[in-house]
Amino acid sequence: MQPVLVVTGGSRGIGAAIARLGGVRGYAVCVHCRGRLDAASDVVSSIRADGGKAIAVQADVGDSDAVAHLFERVDNELGVVTALVNNAGIVGGKARVDEAEPARLRSVFTTNVYGSFYASREAIRRMSTMHGGKGGAIVNVSSMASVLGGLERTVHYAASKGAVDAMTIGLAREVAREGIRVNTIRPGIVHTDIHLPKGGDAFIASVTASGVIPIGRVGQPTEVAEAALWLLSDAAAYVTGAILNVSGGR
Ligand code: NAP
Repeated sequence: MQPVLVVTGGSRGIGAAIARLGGVRGYAVCVHCRGRLDAASDVVSSIRADGGKAIAVQADVGDSDAVAHLFERVDNELGVVTALVNNAGIVGGKARVDEAEPARLRSVFTTNVYGSFYASREAIRRMSTMHGGKGGAIVNVSSMASVLGGLERTVHYAASKGAVDAMTIGLAREVAREGIRVNTIRPGIVHTDIHLPKGGDAFIASVTASGVIPIGRVGQPTEVAEAALWLLSDAAAYVTGAILNVSGGR
């Protein structure tokens, strides 16, 4: 049976790199997106061009009904999910805590935290041996912000990723005897569209020049993808509840 991988936010950046590498490693891949179905379809096309199997599915991860529908499409079009990467995430712009509006906090926590819970819930219902499943693996995508407190005026983002770290540890224990492993990757600064509001390439250049990254450069999405695919693989069969920094030493 072909393994089935769901990558939330697989249309761009880190998620797209994970989806593409998943296709190369033999997974049938659900490339999920929020609004950029064009970008998700491009990722699907590149997986298919390499001989892989993939579909694009649009859903807001913060909407539990939409996430349930996403997994029903995966059931019908690819088969039962065996691997999930909770990658979809937003920064939510910049605001000091004493300026942060409820709507900003709600959208960041709904996407980054609730979204990871909703997708994990659907995956566990299908993977868990307690529910008649055959097991599987989940990788969450957190951020070094959870330990560093975030870049300037992004405490809301850092706190949401702290919740993802805590969820990883607790969930890994909860489902460890049900055939499911749960781990997290903490990327440092990686070259993706998420930095466009801060200036994109100019921001990347200034961070590199500042010397705050010990390895001397920002990361590439493919470098995070390699770590995610390893955590999903049987090579990591004894790894669960782990949090792996992929951050160039920062
Ligand atoms: P990105 O290039 O901005 O891509 C974000 C992805 O998430 C897109 O596929 C987007 O879909 C999807 N998404 C956003 N909100 C969503 C929602 N409500 N429902 C469904 N999908 C949603 O971001 P990235 O840099 O690759 O980041 C990916 C993950 O890595 C995030 O969790 C981020 O916090 C984390 N991370 C990134 C960095 C970094 O430096 N890049 C560092 C640490 C952690 P659309 O394409 O449809 O908009």
